Amino acid sequence: MQDAYYSPWAVQTAVDLANTLRPIKGEDALETVEQLRDFLDDHPAAEPPSPAANQGAGPRHLTRADLAEVRALRETVRAVLERANADAVEAAALINDGLRRSRATPVLRHEDDRWWTEVTSDTDRCSAHLAATTLSALASVIATLGPARLGVCAGPTCRATFVDLSRNGSKQYCTRTCAHRASVAAYRSRRSPR
Ligand SMILES: [Zn+2]
Repeated sequence: MQDAYYSPWAVQTAVDLANTLRPIKGEDALETVEQLRDFLDDHPAAEPPSPAANQGAGPRHLTRADLAEVRALRETVRAVLERANADAVEAAALINDGLRRSRATPVLRHEDDRWWTEVTSDTDRCSAHLAATTLSALASVIATLGPARLGVCAGPTCRATFVDLSRNGSKQYCTRTCAHRASVAAYRSRRSPR
């Protein structure tokens, strides 16, 4: 079977999940069940796709167990994003272990004359579906573009993670804001050498 191409939304979900923790600032945007609900609302594709079970069921009921599981997954996703460039074998082991434990399963979908594949979990655990979605997306990026596309922002006070889907693959900073801040700092240090 051919490797599925990465889905940009799934890649972004992985990066956004990792970046709910800001290690240098010590900020954590995933400390409560409400914050998990907000994260899933902002990333609807991260929800289990079981329309028959969920239709009309209203908002999904999330518990502290879901929160703990998603926080554990976040550690794995962040470790993959941080280490893939330096140690792709270890990152691959983390991905494979996470996919196995989430019982990740590829499925073929069809809507409006369009066919596509995605990887989901055959359990109804929110964390397992999120693991299948995010880890398979990172696996696809590594398989198609290489492990060096996963990285950590070079901004000295940032450490946010990113995935570089650009054509030339030369991304060093998580955002333009960080790149701009770094170039201003470099300019200032050239002007006033100490
Ligand atoms: Zn940054």
